[in-house]
Amino acid sequence: MYKTMTSRENKKGKVIIIVAPSGAGKTTIANKLLNDIDNVKFSTSATTRSPREGEQDGREYFFLSDEEFDRRVERGEFLEWEAYGENRYGTLRSEVDKLVESGYFPLLDIEVKGALNVKKMYGPGSVAIFIKPPSLEELKRRLRNRKSETEQEVQIRLKEAQKELQYADEFDHVVINDDLDKAYSQVKQIVTNFIR
Ligand code: ADP
Ligand code: 5GP
Repeated sequence: MYKTMTSRENKKGKVIIIVAPSGAGKTTIANKLLNDIDNVKFSTSATTRSPREGEQDGREYFFLSDEEFDRRVERGEFLEWEAYGENRYGTLRSEVDKLVESGYFPLLDIEVKGALNVKKMYGPGSVAIFIKPPSLEELKRRLRNRKSETEQEVQIRLKEAQKELQYADEFDHVVINDDLDKAYSQVKQIVTNFIR
């Protein structure tokens, strides 16, 4: 498979936002996209949650203490930040700027409220895609199968999911992730059109 090649120009600083209730398949789809399209790059967020097995500081997230997160909020280092479950997550201005200045399209994997804020800031310079699970039952099944959270954390995520699903219509595109290949090809098409 050839990678999709597009112009490296990204002067306006266009950003790609992918949102989904936890377990819907956002990371799976985002990773395929990053693998496939050369000039889309992951914007690493900061979080106060602990790393999961296999996660590396500075790659999936910058893992910060509560105090360090507070310090960065005070210094205005976040483009946006939100509480999610029992932790906080934030998009670092430095990450997005670094990517834009190098001619890349930052891919933001963030929750609903943060996504809608970034969409407001960027307007037509952003595309916001909501990945929807086929049903809540299937979402539950995927979250449990992933085995990265305790049952209590799964319950918190399911609660957040029900809230997040109500916002789907506020996004530019809604893609149902039932069959992964079909969902991915829709997302790839949307992104390819956006960055063209
Ligand atoms: P998210 O990043 O949205 O929390 P993940 O990408 O980690 O979700 O996906 C949650 C789980 O569901 C993972 O184990 C993943 O392999 C699986 N998964 C993703 N897409 C599908 C799909 N279309 N059908 C079945 N399982 C899927
Ligand atoms: P997880 O703990 O599963 O990695 O992420 C939990 C939720 O936080 C996901 O919906 C994820 O997209 C979101 N998230 C990750 N980084 C950010 C961020 O920088 N800002 C916001 N608002 N949400 C984020």
